[in-house]
Amino acid sequence: MTLSAIKPGKIVTIGEILVDIMALERGRGFLEPLNLRGPFPGGAPAIFIAQAARLGHAAAIISCVGDDDFGWLNIERLKRGRVDVSAVRVHEDHVTASAFVRYREDGERDFLFNLKRSAAGQTEIDQPARALLAECAHFHIMGSSLFSFHLIDEVKKAIEIVKANGATVSFDPNIRKEMMDIAEMRAGLELMLQYCDIFLPSGPELVIPTEAKSEPAAIAELLELGVGCIVVKRAARGSSYYDRDRAIDCPGYKVVEADPTGAGDCFGATFVTCRRSGLPVEECLSLANAAGALAVSRQGGMEGISTLREMRALIANAS
Ligand code: ATP
Ligand code: MG
Repeated sequence: MTLSAIKPGKIVTIGEILVDIMALERGRGFLEPLNLRGPFPGGAPAIFIAQAARLGHAAAIISCVGDDDFGWLNIERLKRGRVDVSAVRVHEDHVTASAFVRYREDGERDFLFNLKRSAAGQTEIDQPARALLAECAHFHIMGSSLFSFHLIDEVKKAIEIVKANGATVSFDPNIRKEMMDIAEMRAGLELMLQYCDIFLPSGPELVIPTEAKSEPAAIAELLELGVGCIVVKRAARGSSYYDRDRAIDCPGYKVVEADPTGAGDCFGATFVTCRRSGLPVEECLSLANAAGALAVSRQGGMEGISTLREMRALIANAS
């Protein structure tokens, strides 16, 4: 089962490829010895692009990893998933990025990131990246990738290239509370909204980049700013779509939650890929909800990606 009539050109993303190392015990932070499980291949942009490729779309990522096991584990995984890694540089002097993750009792998560000084922090628009961007029909950005002024500059360079070629742009703010303290992040968020055709916030992220105090006011403000459409992710409750003419809600699918990591990334990739293949908004929302639900039902971010057949089976079982 494939998506028919996918428009020519690649979906390209830029940003961190990392390993997730997860605490097996719930609690706060990492101030004591813990049982951990990992490394799992990950990084929000990497999971996003792996999901787009899983749906059969030509897909590529611009990134940088270290010449170490964490780096090679990711490269091999992406290659197996048919993601074009021609613009993933292997850096000799920096180690692959990592994220230690621990769940709190209430389901919230604490992260400990090695990003800025990692290989991912050295990502740049070099010659292989430019070659990819020339073939790019849709460019996706994760807010989590805007963790330094250097990255913001590189992302901006890439957007200018793809916009000049007529590509569309999506942006998932993917804000982690640990990152909002980074001054660069806020500046980066505001910049991305100016270029954004599809904005993919989850719940509270909708109002953060606006002056608005309520959801409807934030939606109006963002559409006024020129954002093409807004797709709000609402965890177990599903998702909603807004553009100038329409507001559509789509309830979520019931699953047993094993690990929420990557749900938003799989959701976003599925929505974008299905829209690019010309499916109606309602069906894209439903498939994206199914992708998110399947992602939370499996442990490990990258392990959560699924096929169109699996998404359709979940939808058929629910109805
Ligand atoms: P992430 O933590 O990966 O960044 P997010 O905050 O970006 O996630 P969520 O709203 O948590 O995004 O999840 C994305 C989508 O996945 C939801 O819109 C929904 O369709 C699906 N989803 C998430 N959690 C659940 C759940 N517990 N049950 C069913 N579906 C879910
Ligand atoms: Mg997210």
